[in-house]
Amino acid sequence: MDINLTGKTAVITGGLKGIGAAIAEAFAKSGADVAVISRTITNEKRSELNEFYSGLGAKAEFYECDVADYEKCEKTVETIISDFGGIDILVNNAGITRDGLFVKMDSDAFNNVISANLTGTFNMSRHVGRYMFRKKSGCIINLSSVVGIYGNAGQANYSASKAGVIGLTKSLAKELGPRGIRVNAIAPGFIETDMTGVLSDELKAQMLQRISLKRFGQTKEVADLALFLASEHASYISGQVIEIDGCMSV
Ligand code: NAP
Repeated sequence: MDINLTGKTAVITGGLKGIGAAIAEAFAKSGADVAVISRTITNEKRSELNEFYSGLGAKAEFYECDVADYEKCEKTVETIISDFGGIDILVNNAGITRDGLFVKMDSDAFNNVISANLTGTFNMSRHVGRYMFRKKSGCIINLSSVVGIYGNAGQANYSASKAGVIGLTKSLAKELGPRGIRVNAIAPGFIETDMTGVLSDELKAQMLQRISLKRFGQTKEVADLALFLASEHASYISGQVIEIDGCMSV
């Protein structure tokens, strides 16, 4: 499928590594300019990425912003609009885990995950969404998770945050749809990144048994789905939660 995002500007939160980096790269390769957000970026990483993206012929800028910080998100979105002249696509990808059994989970572990994953998605959607609302067009893609649909022992905080992202996605799709804005969520299963790299070999073996395709997902496979959702090929798709998990039994 030929996807051309030339002339579009995409904001990708948590786009320095893992799924977010694969999405930023896929969008840039399809002609988009990319504004990449992470909490921190070193000068070395910035110049390495500047070289990488200019090699792809894409404009790319990098912004330090904790998506859990409402005011900082507002300022960052204003700066991006001024740097790029507008925003067409927002990918709310930034996310964290702090796994642990519910009986041992303290309120910090719960609130930190909710702040980064759910409040962060609200903060960025609020500021970018207001701009898209005035412009009467746009596309928002939120990274949820299969555990936001089915739950998972040891991830009460994370599952709650990702279930919240689904509710937010469906509500925004209804509210912003009349202004020409599509909002969808991607719910990955087990994708090989730093986030899942910390899990024990035993847990990984258990997960693998539950996956019909008998392998873990790759970041590029999620990026390809995001690319499709951001493109004109998905022009009538909104309010959906698309699972990408190799057919995982729950
Ligand atoms: P990852 O490799 O750990 O990358 C997460 C990214 O998010 C990093 O770039 C991190 O950058 C950024 N980030 C975290 N908190 C942030 C904050 N408060 N503000 C700004 N940036 C922040 O994770 P991943 O596996 O690629 O996951 C990406 C998304 O997919 C997450 O939302 C995750 O929940 C979701 N997901 C992943 C899987 C999986 O199997 N990997 C499955 C389901 C859903 P800094 O630390 O530099 O800020």
